Amino acid sequence: MNILVCIKQVPNTDKIKIDKETNTLIRNNVESIINPFDTYALEFALRIKDQYKETKITAITMGPLQAKKALESAYALGIDNAILISDKKFGGSDTLATSYILAKSIEYLQKENNLFDLILCGKQAIDGDTAQVGPELAEHLNIAQVTYVKEIKIENNSFIVTKETDEGEQTLKVGKNSLLTITKPKFEPRFSSLSMKIKAKKKEIIQYDLSVLENIDKSKIGLKGSPTKVIKTYVNSTEKKSITFEGNSLNKAKEIYKILEKNI
Ligand code: FAD
Repeated sequence: MNILVCIKQVPNTDKIKIDKETNTLIRNNVESIINPFDTYALEFALRIKDQYKETKITAITMGPLQAKKALESAYALGIDNAILISDKKFGGSDTLATSYILAKSIEYLQKENNLFDLILCGKQAIDGDTAQVGPELAEHLNIAQVTYVKEIKIENNSFIVTKETDEGEQTLKVGKNSLLTITKPKFEPRFSSLSMKIKAKKKEIIQYDLSVLENIDKSKIGLKGSPTKVIKTYVNSTEKKSITFEGNSLNKAKEIYKILEKNI
């Protein structure tokens, strides 16, 4: 079985600060990591490979050249192939353009060799946070999708997946050539060993740009091809005030009641 995992390199948001003047993220010198939900997707793929040894896992990312680091980290976990889709003309792409570029790249590569029987994405990226790319990618490719998946079992040629819902859980059966977006499962993703990290540095990262991916419509990519317009960004400030209540307990209770009455 061939599994394609879409991974995104994101800044480690634990370490990120906000520029109070411009209200933008200060990305300089911030460590980049594989989006945490994508590490769960990789772990699911690796668990399937543990069980079915013939499984081949390919990780794909669209991003700048430094996104190679994320693919290298994925190699260190045990994937078989890594693909970087990169071109200056992709810069400024919103989620629709990003998913379009990924879909067209996958279609192109699928013609060359069977890249996937299953596509896994993270539920959402911790920087963009939209959770749109996975579902949009499935729509572009015209394949079935299940979102918020936290369990995958293989039964004959189908996948039995458990997804999180507002009410609890839902179990669904999907066939091959489906896309699943992965939420936090019951287990933690594995760590890479030092020897795997060393080996990963020598692995090939296959790179494609617009000159190769001729099937991409240039009017649908980059800033121009992105219908999302960011009008304003701001940091939601939360001010904390403290009030000291004087007097006996009854008076204090009355004062608190007055404040609650006014604010509820
Ligand atoms: P989500 O939809 O939350 O991600 C869900 C899952 O989709 C991920 O877990 C992963 O599995 C997959 N996925 C998401 N992105 C990728 C990817 N790139 N490659 C492979 N798999 C992926 N971002 C930039 O980096 N550079 C820009 O120049 C840029 N310009 C933008 C301009 C505008 C107007 C807007 C609105 C956004 C821009 N962005 C840019 C952000 C960019 O649109 C999103 O980061 C990107 O489309 C992914 O969306 P998301 O982060 O919400 O991912």
